Amino acid sequence: MTTLVNADCWLQFLDFAKQHCSATAYENWLVPIEVLNYSDEQVTLAVPNIFVKEYLLDNYRADLCSFLPVRGPGDPSIEFVIRPRIALNISKKEATSSDVILTATETLAVPLFNHSYRFESYVEGPSNQFAKSAAMGVASRPGRSYNPLFIHGGVGLGKTHLLHAIGHYVQSHHKKMKIQSITTEGFCNDLVDSLRNKSVDQMKRRYREADLFLIDDVQFLQSRLNFEEELCNTFESLINQNKQIVITSDKPPAQLKLSERIVARMEWGLVVHIGIPELETRVAILQAKAEAKGLKIPSRVLFFIAEHVFSNVRQLEGAVNKLSAQCRLMNLDITEELVEKSLKEMLQQAPKEHISVDHIIKSVAAVFQVRMSDIKGSSRTKEIVLPRQVAMYLAKEMIKESLMMLASYFNGRTHSTFLHACKSIEKKAADDELLRRQINMVRQNIES
Ligand code: ADP
Ligand code: MG
Repeated sequence: MTTLVNADCWLQFLDFAKQHCSATAYENWLVPIEVLNYSDEQVTLAVPNIFVKEYLLDNYRADLCSFLPVRGPGDPSIEFVIRPRIALNISKKEATSSDVILTATETLAVPLFNHSYRFESYVEGPSNQFAKSAAMGVASRPGRSYNPLFIHGGVGLGKTHLLHAIGHYVQSHHKKMKIQSITTEGFCNDLVDSLRNKSVDQMKRRYREADLFLIDDVQFLQSRLNFEEELCNTFESLINQNKQIVITSDKPPAQLKLSERIVARMEWGLVVHIGIPELETRVAILQAKAEAKGLKIPSRVLFFIAEHVFSNVRQLEGAVNKLSAQCRLMNLDITEELVEKSLKEMLQQAPKEHISVDHIIKSVAAVFQVRMSDIKGSSRTKEIVLPRQVAMYLAKEMIKESLMMLASYFNGRTHSTFLHACKSIEKKAADDELLRRQINMVRQNIES
C-alpha cells in the first residue's frame, strides 16, 4: 500500500514539474531522483549529487509541500541521500537557434553561433557604442585587451548578439583558437552531467583549455553556490593563462547575489553597459531589420513604431516580423493605420503628447542657458550636469513613464543614474533658493 501511495505522490509531483520546466531540465534534474522510502512523516529521496538536491529545493520547495509530507509551513519533510549512479543514457541538450550548448559528449564540436548575430548587423548608437567597441577590441586581440569583458544590460538589448559576434569574428580571424561558448544554464548542466559520469576532470580540462571562453547570462548563477565555485575556478585558471573571457549578465557584477570572490574576478577587466537605444538608434535598427527582410517601411512609419516600442530591441524585431507577414499575406501597403491596428498589443504607452522629455529638456536648456545637445550629451562639467539632473528630476515628476524609458532620452543613461540625479536635485533644492526658483520657472514654462 505505502509503496503505491509513495510512488503516486512522487509521480504526481513529477507530472506537475514537467509542466513547469524545460524537457532538458526535467531530464537532467528530476529524472535522476529516486524515492527510497516513504512514510506519513517523511520521504527519503536518493539524489546523484548535492546540486540536484539544491535544484529541487530552490525551484520546487513550495510545490513539494503540496505533494509530500511537511514539517511545517513551506517546509517539505524530505531526507536526502546522496547516491551517485552511473547514467545509462546521457541526454543531449537541444540547442536553440540563439543558444550554444556544448555537452560533455560534444567535446570536438565547433561552437555554432547564431548566423545573424554579427558585428556588421549590430546597429550602433550612444547606448551601445562603448559595449560594441569593447567587444570588437576583444575580438581582434583576444586575451590581450580587457579581460574579462563583462557586458550587462536589460533583456533584449543585444548582449547575446555581441557575444556571438565576438565568436564569429574569432572563428574567422583567429582560426587556431579554441572557443568555448555556453549559457550559464548549459555550464551548470554540463557540470551535473560530468558529475554523473564521473568525468569532472575532463570537463574542467575542456573549459580550461579554451583560448576564448564566452559565457552568457551569468545572472543564472545566483544562489547556486556550488556551480559558482567551479565557474570561478575556471575564470581564474583562464585569466592566469591570459585566455580571453567574455561574460554577459542582466546586472552589473556588484548587483549580482554572488560571492565577493567571483564578483571581484568579474570586475577585474572591463565592465560595459548596454542601455535602451535612443529614438534615432531604434529607427536605424528597425530600418536594418526591415531591409534584411526585403521590406520597405516609410520613414514616417518607422518613427511611429520606434516612438511606441522603446524598451527592447527584440520587440522592435517582432514588430517588423509581424508587419512583414501581414503585408505579404494580404498584399497591403504599410501605413500608420495598419501598424496601429496590427501591432496594437505591442505598442507601449508613449509619453503624453503635450509634455515630452524633449519639451522638458528644451525648457531647462532655456532657463539654465545651455544647449539641448549638452543636456543630452555626456559632458561632466558642473554647468551641464546640474541642468541635466534638473531635466531628469522634472521628467520623473511630470511624465508618468518607467524610469527606464525616461532614462533612454538621456544618452542611454541607466535608470540608477537617473534615480541618483533625481535624489541629488531633491537634496540640493531643499537648501538652495535659486535652484528652487529655476526649477519652478521651468515647470511654469512647460505647463503654460
Ligand atoms: P539579450 O541577450 O540582451 O537579451 P539579444 O542579443 O538576444 O538580447 O538581442 C535581441 C534581439 O535584438 C536579437 O535578435 C538581436 O539581433 C537584436 N538586437 C539587439 N540589439 C541590436 C542592435 N544594436 N542592432 C541590431 N540588432 C540588435
Ligand atoms: Mg541573451
